[in-house]
Amino acid sequence: MDNPPTIERAREQLQALFGFREFRGRQAEVVGRVLAGQSTLAVMPTGAGKSLTYQLPATMLDGTCVVISPLIALMHDQLRAARANGIRAGTLTSQDADWRETIDAYRTGALDLLYVAPERASQPGFRDLLASARVALFAVDEAHCVSEWGHDFRPDYRQLGPLMDLFTEVPRLALTATADARTRADILAQLGIAADGLVVAGFDRPNIRYALRHRDNPVRQITALMAAHPGPGIVYVPTRKKAEDLADKLAMATRRRVLPYHAGLEPEVRSANQAAFVASEDMVMVATVAFGMGIDKPDVRFVAHAGIPKSIEAYYQETGRAGRDGDPSEALLLWGAGDFAMARQRLAELPPERQAGERARLDALAMLVETPGCRRAVLLRHFGEDPPESCGNCDNCLEAPGVTDATETARKLLSAVYRTGQSYGLGHLQKVLTGASDERIIQRGHDRLSVYGIVGADEARLLQPLVRALQARGSLVANEHGGLALAGDARAILKGERSVEIVLPPKGKRKTAKEGNPVGDPLFDALRELRRQLALEAQVPPYVIFHDATLREMARARPSSLDELGEIGGVGARKLDAYGEYFLDVILRH
Ligand code: ADP
Ligand code: ZN
Repeated sequence: MDNPPTIERAREQLQALFGFREFRGRQAEVVGRVLAGQSTLAVMPTGAGKSLTYQLPATMLDGTCVVISPLIALMHDQLRAARANGIRAGTLTSQDADWRETIDAYRTGALDLLYVAPERASQPGFRDLLASARVALFAVDEAHCVSEWGHDFRPDYRQLGPLMDLFTEVPRLALTATADARTRADILAQLGIAADGLVVAGFDRPNIRYALRHRDNPVRQITALMAAHPGPGIVYVPTRKKAEDLADKLAMATRRRVLPYHAGLEPEVRSANQAAFVASEDMVMVATVAFGMGIDKPDVRFVAHAGIPKSIEAYYQETGRAGRDGDPSEALLLWGAGDFAMARQRLAELPPERQAGERARLDALAMLVETPGCRRAVLLRHFGEDPPESCGNCDNCLEAPGVTDATETARKLLSAVYRTGQSYGLGHLQKVLTGASDERIIQRGHDRLSVYGIVGADEARLLQPLVRALQARGSLVANEHGGLALAGDARAILKGERSVEIVLPPKGKRKTAKEGNPVGDPLFDALRELRRQLALEAQVPPYVIFHDATLREMARARPSSLDELGEIGGVGARKLDAYGEYFLDVILRH
């Protein structure tokens, strides 16, 4: 390359094209490498702004950036967003009618970005097409799909290495949000990127507030969450039936638009619900984990889990769908002891060689749920980072829970479980331990046991949270009738070899993150209304026009000329040109 564009030029272009003032996190480093022609694997969390690291260079380098992306829906989202910023982009998918135009544009060097699916890579016709003009860069999105170690292996990705090998002079940029060390090494090898081309950004999502609570009334708890967040949200539920049921109840309780999403819906209904969600500024989707892949809606304000997720990895990926735009967002997990009991029961049904791994996953989740310390620290440590002890933006950091040594009570409880034959639920055990009497107790002779009445009134308050904690950590398991039996380290606790601490949530209402949007401010609301109209006309989701943060800044700074409007973050040249007059008009009229 004769004279690669400098990072200073890239900064100017960042402002001119996207209206962004600064690179975020490690974007500058990745962009710098791409401009210098160095192949790179960028591992950056969701919302870090991965797409910008190839979109921006694509507008500065000679030739076209070829982007390989696994999902058509994602490609079309990206296409819309790129075009809205004045970037010349095209897609070649089975759903496009404009192949001819796209191919001509590529051949004449009139495309900055060409999006294609991986299966195209192995087609000879496609190789010939690429060879007919200049490729500036290969960008491989969701690059973990190339590795069998990754969580989403796609055999078609294996064709990408050989394809790119035909264009040795073209640099490669692989991007992913999730890849452990083994997967990273595999991606580098498969895609022919040197080991020193690895750029790993931290996993932290500082704008997401994590909160985990016991699930005592999910409808009420999620209604409260929705009240704090008028913006869009996702509620994950374990089953199709719960998706339908909870969607109905939340819609009734809040009068908001709440729709279900799960694999059992008719395909048309499913895609209509998804489209409604993407376009909406206030809708809530109650969904199974079938929902979320391939949706990069930036303004999701909360993600709630109405039951425990499969693993910490799954939890992080699902909650990561909140707050891609960097605005304050909340992740609320509602758990019940039964969730753990059921998951531990299912362990037994797994092939023996998988049981240890799955048990470790559950233990890690139980730790997250039971920790009195910083939730973010537990999460980040799980991903191999070394975070500060306290983040200041999770439930436990904002309000420390009480911690009690409940070892003695645990021994009394476990002993009562054992002596009553390991088949009674908490209600009966409570009665035995506190010395209450009823017919069943007399009949079974449980009033003659040594554990009868050994728990005082004060101590009795601990029994319920204790049973939850013991179930979460697997020291107690429940059968299908709620009968409790000893398991895991129960015997060690009984023998006094293990201690048990339980976490008591602070009394009273816990704080919920308040959303940053000044909903109700007349100017802000008017700007939103204008955005809604423009989005409707252009047939794009509102966030493609401008993000909330951009509207907030407009409402606060009240620019009085197009020049001043162009200074607002998120207002690039193309958008200033297309929408500037309209927004200025609304601002001046207020
Ligand atoms: P990822 O693919 O890493 O999840 P995206 O590429 O979708 O993230 O970007 C997330 C959001 O952040 C997008 O809406 C994008 O416009 C915005 N963004 C990216 N880079 C910047 C930046 N430097 N300044 C401000 N916003 C940015
Ligand atoms: Zn914290």
